[in-house]
Amino acid sequence: MSDCIFCKIIAGEIPSDKLYEDDEIIVFRDINPQAPVHFLLVPKKHIAMPKDVSANDDKVMGKLFRVAAQVAAAENVADNYRIVLNNGAKSGQEVFHIHMHILGGKEKPWPI
Ligand code: 5GP
Ligand code: ZN
Repeated sequence: MSDCIFCKIIAGEIPSDKLYEDDEIIVFRDINPQAPVHFLLVPKKHIAMPKDVSANDDKVMGKLFRVAAQVAAAENVADNYRIVLNNGAKSGQEVFHIHMHILGGKEKPWPI
C-alpha cells in the first residue's frame, strides 16, 4: 500500500526506532508513547485491521505475542505490560495497517 505509513516504515522509507525485525514482522517504538515503554509490533503483510485477519495469518499473529514478550523483557517490563489492538476508527485506530501496542511500565493502566 503506497500511502500506508507503516508500509513505508517497513520499506525503510520512513525512519523508526527499531527494536526487532525478521522476514515477517517489524517492531519499533511508538512515536508518541503513552507509557514508559510503548512499542508496536507490525506484520510486514499489509492487513488493514484485526477483523481482516485470515487463517493464513494465524502464524504471524501468534508470533506477535511471542516477540512482544521477548522485546518487553529486553525493555525490562517482562511482568508489566498491556497489549492493545485497535479495530476501526471508532475504537481509536488511526493507522490502518494492523499493529499490536505494548504499553509497559505503567501501574494498573486501564484505561489508557
Ligand atoms: P492506532 O491509534 O492506529 O492504534 O495507533 C497508531 C500508533 O502509531 C499511534 O500510537 C501513533 O503514535 C503511532 N504512529 C503514527 N505514526 C507513526 C510513525 O511515523 N512512527 C512511529 N514510530 N509511530 C507512529
Ligand atoms: Zn501498510
